[in-house]
Amino acid sequence: MADWQELEKKYFMRTFKRMPLTVVRGEGARVWDEHGKEYLDFTSGWAVNSLGHCHPAVVGAVCEQARTLIQTSNQFYTVPQIKLAELLVENSCLDRVFFCNSGAEAVEGAVKLARRYGKLHLGGAYKVITTFNSFHGRTLTMVAATGQPKHQEPYTPLPNGFVNVEYNKVGAIKEATTSETCAVMLEPIQGEGGVNTPDDDYLKEVRAWCDDKGILLILDEVQTGIGRIGSLFGYEQFGVEPDIMALGKGLGGGVPIGAFLAKEKASVFAPGEHGSTFGGNPLACAAGYATLKFIIEGDIPSKVKQTGAYLISELERLKSKFDFIVEVRGRGLLEAVQFDRDLSDRVVRACLERGLLLNPVKPNAVRFIPPLNITKSDVDEAIAVLEPVLAEVGKER
Ligand SMILES: *Cc1c(COP(=O)(O)O)cnc(C)c1O
Repeated sequence: MADWQELEKKYFMRTFKRMPLTVVRGEGARVWDEHGKEYLDFTSGWAVNSLGHCHPAVVGAVCEQARTLIQTSNQFYTVPQIKLAELLVENSCLDRVFFCNSGAEAVEGAVKLARRYGKLHLGGAYKVITTFNSFHGRTLTMVAATGQPKHQEPYTPLPNGFVNVEYNKVGAIKEATTSETCAVMLEPIQGEGGVNTPDDDYLKEVRAWCDDKGILLILDEVQTGIGRIGSLFGYEQFGVEPDIMALGKGLGGGVPIGAFLAKEKASVFAPGEHGSTFGGNPLACAAGYATLKFIIEGDIPSKVKQTGAYLISELERLKSKFDFIVEVRGRGLLEAVQFDRDLSDRVVRACLERGLLLNPVKPNAVRFIPPLNITKSDVDEAIAVLEPVLAEVGKER
């Protein structure tokens, strides 16, 4: 058998810090390596495989659509795109949608829309306020939006038009707002930033401020959307409605797709002002439609709430047992534990050896983002691997 990991080292750009595992097959919450070893996957392709790997509803829709029509272009109407648009709009507070191919593209499209709104309705205001520790994607412009120096410093000078301020502090947003501000952009819970959950009133206060100033609220729900935190969209849990919302990750059940939606008043693109060759292609939209329909009809978000509560209670139990766990945080099936020092790599590697995949979201924090339809016994199985690993790590120090 080829040594895939050696070949990767030879041919691939040195950008990913990969773990020593080649995934060749997946089914539900499990994946297998090329030697047939099984792993319980609590990473879900970074919160993408919302129904687990190769869910029959998604596989069926993709196979059927692949035989029917894979791509044409947005020069024409296509059925899966319109069906998915209807499902998203009818189940959210937004009125119109645009499809693209990734989270970064969705958020960037959302920012373009806000700038267009600023030009038309706010005297040319174009600046977008975002927060430290946020994550909005890897395009050069989204790196400027992402308030993390480690993503920004290698690429300066950055595109203009973003102001990064402290998260969970409405005063910081107020101070940063000027006549040049067209929007505030936030994740309801910061995902890549380490699963940082704001105070209950934060989003409401930001919403009120935006209304006050007549500026737009963009929610980047690429990670929190599509059931991840126990409601179809994250905003539902914080008592606010965004003017623009970006989606990605879990929307396609594993197939690459992104989208942004807007309220009617903010849907200001004129024909030709935005576009995409692949965005909204029938294949990805068929996958998105099958995924979203299954999640809505199966009331998966309320299952996420239950399983998530159970996972959090188990993580809290581990916290009371191991003094080097300093915090358990998150909602639904977007959770993390934080250690008092940089233990993530050791913990994640030890779990990998024992058949459990976790994500080291920060050097001192491990993230849990399993498929949305995992069972209580999957959680028990994960904890049964994690607990002795933590005991060992605790003994070593
Ligand atoms: C992952 C993520 C993105 C970027 O998505 P890509 O598909 O990697 O471009 C943007 N925003 C948030 C909140 C994310 O979690």
